[in-house]
Amino acid sequence: MIKIKQTRDGSPLITASVSDFCASMGYCEVSITHFLKGIKPPETQIIIDGTKSHEKEEVLEKEHFTFKPVTIEELEDFTRDIEFAREGLYTRFQRELSFGNEKLSLLLLGRADKVLRSKGTLIVEDSKYPANKEKYQDTFEPYDTQKLQTLLYLNSRFSESFPFSPKVCFDIPCEKKAWIINIKDKATMESLRVFQGVQTEEAENFLKEKINRFALLALGKFAPFHHCNIKKCKSCRFEECENKIS
Ligand code: SF4
Repeated sequence: MIKIKQTRDGSPLITASVSDFCASMGYCEVSITHFLKGIKPPETQIIIDGTKSHEKEEVLEKEHFTFKPVTIEELEDFTRDIEFAREGLYTRFQRELSFGNEKLSLLLLGRADKVLRSKGTLIVEDSKYPANKEKYQDTFEPYDTQKLQTLLYLNSRFSESFPFSPKVCFDIPCEKKAWIINIKDKATMESLRVFQGVQTEEAENFLKEKINRFALLALGKFAPFHHCNIKKCKSCRFEECENKIS
């Protein structure tokens, strides 16, 4: 769901989940119109299976590893390696934007699969369990939704509890930022393909461009772009979408 409310100074605050943002800006912009109306697409078997695989991975990690709480000293010293338990950090990405004389705030909330810092590099890893693993045989780049998701986490503040206020959020100091998108076999949990890279200026610009466009689309400043891709519409969970093509 995407919500817009007026702040005390009269400027809008747009709030959304990381997944709804990524679905809108990485898969289909038209879905913004549905999220704004509060329409939640039905859960598919793929989503249910994906959630189960994430839970399985979390349990496996708990069985084999114990993570000591990270102290403030450890957190603030970026020369020290730290690692948080799987699914252990919630994320808060907040930006103040302005277009001409208009100001607005954007808040995107999420939960990262895995966050660690190694040799001064903040690393966010996200696991995916595709229903059709064959499609990754000829895929050499992650999808935009996957890139956006890890970039948002990398540029967020973090909290170990939810719900959380800005007061309890913390930054993870680092020299560099890097992402890993791990495509796994849901039956065996083995990696099928691993995409990884550092956060470059190009990646930062990509994120910035998507954020600005999302804000303007949510405020209705212009109409969403339709990709005109029948395959995308066929796989889309918004069954009642009036813009569905077949
Ligand atoms: S049905 Fe097609 S146009 Fe509608 S939200 Fe889904 S992908 Fe977009």
